[in-house]
Amino acid sequence: MTVICLDFDGVVINSIDECYETSWRAYAKWKGVPATPDPDRAAFFGRVRKHVRPAGQYWVLHHAYDAGLTGLDEVAFGRLVEQHAATIRTFEPLFFGERNAQRAADLSGWLALNPPYDGAREGIRSLMERGLLYIVTTKDGESVRLLMDHFGIGFDPDRIHGKERHENKAEAIRAISQETRVDPDEILFLDDHPDHLKDVAVTGAECVWASWGYYDHRSGFEGPPVADWPAFMDLVEKADRNRPAQ
Ligand SMILES: [Mg+2]
Repeated sequence: MTVICLDFDGVVINSIDECYETSWRAYAKWKGVPATPDPDRAAFFGRVRKHVRPAGQYWVLHHAYDAGLTGLDEVAFGRLVEQHAATIRTFEPLFFGERNAQRAADLSGWLALNPPYDGAREGIRSLMERGLLYIVTTKDGESVRLLMDHFGIGFDPDRIHGKERHENKAEAIRAISQETRVDPDEILFLDDHPDHLKDVAVTGAECVWASWGYYDHRSGFEGPPVADWPAFMDLVEKADRNRPAQ
C-alpha cells in the first residue's frame, strides 16, 4: 500500500473514559444539573458508546440513560438520532467546549484519560517510516495532535484529517487521494466502526476492520478483520510484498 489512513478513537487510542467524562459534564450543563460521579451511567455509556459517530450523538446516550432505555440497540439509537437531530446539533459545540476547558484546566489529567492500544505507538512509528500515513477521524484535529505529541510521535499536523476538514470519511479519503495523486484502490483504510468502513469502501479504498475497537461485530461490512496492532502490521507487510513492482 502506498497510503495508509487510520481512524483514531477505537484504533489508536481507547478514549471511552475521556468521552464519558467530557460528555457527562457537557450534558449536565445542558440539563442544568451537577455532573456528580455516576458509576451506573458510566457503565451504561461503556456498553453503548459504540453507536456514536459524530460527538453530538453522545447526548443521545445520556438522554437514553435518563429515560431508562437500558437495552439501547442500533435501531433504537438510530431512531433517537433522527428524533433529536436539532438537540444533537446544539450539543456538539457544548461537548467540544467542555473538552477544550478540560484540556486547559488539566492537560496531563486529560491526556491520561486517552491511553493508546498495545502496539499502536510502535506500529505508527513503523508505518511513518514506510511512507504516507494519515489520520482520518471525526475527532477534533487538535486533540489528535496533542495526543501524538504526548506519545512521542512527531506527526505532521497536515496529515491529520479531523472533523473540521470534512463532512465524512469518504470525502477525506478522496481528498487524500487527490493530494497524494494515489488512486483510492491503493489506499488502505483502518477503522473500528462498520458504518465508516462501508461508507469509505464506496471510494474503492481497501477497508479493514479493527476488531479491537469499540464495535464487537462487523454489522454488514464484508472486508477483512484484524484482531490487534501486530496483526495489522502483518497485513500491511503482506500487502506490500504482493504489490507489483512499479
Ligand atoms: Mg473509531
